[in-house]
Amino acid sequence: MGENSSTKWPLRVKAFGAAFCLSASLCLCPPSTPGLQRVVSDTPRQTTRTLLGVRLGAEVSSWLDEVEKRLGEEVYAEFAELDEAGAAADYTLGVSYLTGTGVGVVRVDESFRARGAKQTEAVIGHELLHLRLRARGYPLFLFSPEVMTVKGRAEDVEQSNVNDLVSLIEHRIFAEEMRRTGFDKLIDLTNWLESARGKRRSDEGQAVTINYARAALEWDDPRLLDELTRIYRAKGWERSLSDGRRLADVIRASNIKAPGEVAPVFLGSMSVLYRADFSVEADRRFALSRTYPQMLIHARRPARRRGVR
Ligand SMILES: [Zn+2]
Repeated sequence: MGENSSTKWPLRVKAFGAAFCLSASLCLCPPSTPGLQRVVSDTPRQTTRTLLGVRLGAEVSSWLDEVEKRLGEEVYAEFAELDEAGAAADYTLGVSYLTGTGVGVVRVDESFRARGAKQTEAVIGHELLHLRLRARGYPLFLFSPEVMTVKGRAEDVEQSNVNDLVSLIEHRIFAEEMRRTGFDKLIDLTNWLESARGKRRSDEGQAVTINYARAALEWDDPRLLDELTRIYRAKGWERSLSDGRRLADVIRASNIKAPGEVAPVFLGSMSVLYRADFSVEADRRFALSRTYPQMLIHARRPARRRGVR
């Protein structure tokens, strides 16, 4: 146990505020929120749909239609407080997941009630694009229980990083839809810049690496990225800076058109992020496997040590 190289780099930072959405992190368990509100329009033949009181454009309505058709159930949506108690600001804008019975759920941060219909539609649309990938059979990835780090089981201490990584890959897959609808301009992803300033050198770790990659991939502003680069240099986060750049390159170079094309990109990203090799296999006991595969992540012994015990 504990053979993969992530054990060499203990992680002190598990969750940063820059998460735009945690669509993957909640997929594995049914929601514990009682009283989920049914807000879907009950007239499926109209060309536009209404969700959370927002009239969706034709394209977003078609995403909702497709998700519901594939899942065979109406999508449930609600406004909710998505940040932990004591959070300094509204960091998480939206989440989405499938319940254990295969119902698609979209949750939008309550702060959007005051931000207006257009921004709310942008978050709804973004989460529907994640849900559409699930409904089309795109996989999620979960650490197998035997993968260990110095801080404990990877499934306990590292899963949030994997979820963020999968989100980044999925954002690449549906970047064109976000651009076409203009939603990419409506959602502000830049709060990591301010959060990063307040961190310590010792906060460096995989989350810091992912946050750099996210900025490099999703900020459409070289000046902001330069500013972030200077912060990383000043903090001494050289490893996260170089790994973050490589991670962004791997994801930027991907051109995923089918569910089976995700795993190679995921494994290439993991090898940059942890400087270790992993393998994945479908979890055959996964309850929603008829909708999409849940892939279990296994640590792979470095080639030079194979056979040495
Ligand atoms: Zn997202």
